[in-house]
Amino acid sequence: VHEQPTIFIIFGATGDLAWRKLAPALYNLFVDKFMPHNFAIIGNARAKMTDEEFQGKMLEGVNQFSRNGKADKTLWKEFAQHISYQSSDVQDNASYKSFADFIEAFETKHKSKARVIYYLAVAPRFFPIIASKLAENNLATDPKTSRVVIEKPFGHDLESAKDLNVLLSTLFQEEQIYRIDHYLGKEPVQNIMAFRFANSILEPIWNRNYIEHVQISVTEQLGVENRGGYYEGAGAMRDMIQNHLLQLLCLVAMETPINFEADEIRNRKVDVLHAMRKFEPDDVQKYVVRGQYAKGWLEGEDVEGYRKEKGVDPQSNTETFAAVKFFVDNWRWQGVPFYVRSGKRMHQNTSTIIIQFKDVPHCVFPTQVTDNWQQNRLVISIQPEMSIRLQLQVKRPGLDMVLNTVDMLFNYKGTYKHGEPEAYETLLTDIMEGDQTLFMRGDQVEAAWELLMPILNAWGNRKSLSFPNYQAGSWGPELAEALIAQDGFHWFTLP
Ligand code: NAD
Repeated sequence: VHEQPTIFIIFGATGDLAWRKLAPALYNLFVDKFMPHNFAIIGNARAKMTDEEFQGKMLEGVNQFSRNGKADKTLWKEFAQHISYQSSDVQDNASYKSFADFIEAFETKHKSKARVIYYLAVAPRFFPIIASKLAENNLATDPKTSRVVIEKPFGHDLESAKDLNVLLSTLFQEEQIYRIDHYLGKEPVQNIMAFRFANSILEPIWNRNYIEHVQISVTEQLGVENRGGYYEGAGAMRDMIQNHLLQLLCLVAMETPINFEADEIRNRKVDVLHAMRKFEPDDVQKYVVRGQYAKGWLEGEDVEGYRKEKGVDPQSNTETFAAVKFFVDNWRWQGVPFYVRSGKRMHQNTSTIIIQFKDVPHCVFPTQVTDNWQQNRLVISIQPEMSIRLQLQVKRPGLDMVLNTVDMLFNYKGTYKHGEPEAYETLLTDIMEGDQTLFMRGDQVEAAWELLMPILNAWGNRKSLSFPNYQAGSWGPELAEALIAQDGFHWFTLP
């Protein structure tokens, strides 16, 4: 990473993502000495701004959102020297010409070919235009040195995702395209593969013979904040399940890769998506639940219902919650339900994966000592706590034989003193290094859309809904409880 001079060109540099995520990530990489010796960051957006004003905005982002708190004055001064700003419309050819001039001057100065990373932190409608302009202006011709980073959402449905893939593949090589799913950069998410494939004791039980069901929950207390306009056209299925939750499911369900090459891992993940049971239109009612929050009470405060949020249609039928029961039809997982749910304005902020093991084949203990009997459960917690706990039955100390459930716990905070990098730090480093493991390949995105299209189509056809159907601050609609309860299970939450 260090040797090759590098230029980051960030489109949409005055936006929320650049400010909250990219600025702190780039600065922390610099502080931790992961940035190349020679680098430049060019911010691009429409607003008129001087370099100093833009640097000030980035600093504000670091001070507010960095995992390390406020920036160090001396280090920031050093870092800011690398940052400049250029105001232009993404349609404007002149700006691409000036990028070319900048790259040329930078390469001459450093007497070496530069690695150039184009980060598209803009609304998706601009992805095609920026990509086309980059190609037209010969800015990304060398697949070894130029990379194009595409933020989510990648497409609005299967067709638009395919169109975007076709366009990108005519302009660039797949090895240049980095489709972001920032969840994959999170430390505990990366750890799922280490945990599964670096420990010999798990593989024999990681299948339908021992696992009863799997739950994946990503719930947020936040509402739509100031992104109501975007969310109206998306909803929980497109915004969360299509990408983050299906990717978590793939990590749990994938077969063992033969090595740690990006394409090998992505092949094994896409195999899971291909093995997932297709939904027939009639299945949607049976296997899928959607919800929208009404006003309610969260963390001691009254909060408004979704339909009253800024940028939201007062009659909106956009779902702010979705739950799905999936099956993976292969030898490993036949008959094992994967319950997946995600929602906004929920009771807690959590991202957890629950592997629920089957009960013992025969219980030798009398019922009076097994009060708190619980089947073995593995809980992988991504947020708020980063931990893995295995829940086991033990004898409570005492003269009587009484069983209770305890946790064998691996907790990041207790185990490692050093704070972990933010997802965007990991992802930006991988982009510099040219490692695509944690990025979505074109066929993965399409396979995920393909799986969900019958649901989205069935939903689109039914307009009259009894929305809102869950209170802000609750665990979502009752129907979501019923979805899992009818199989004899319940959604598990950490206390
Ligand atoms: P935003 O609306 O805050 O920022 C958009 C940026 O694009 C601004 O800098 C704006 O000036 C610029 N822009 C708009 N029109 C332009 C034009 N014609 N020419 C040049 N620049 C123009 O958006 P955001 O929230 O930062 O999101 C950016 C991308 O990242 C989107 O694809 C979004 O879905 C994705 N994303 C955002 C978040 C987040 O937390 N904000 C999270 C995940 C993904």
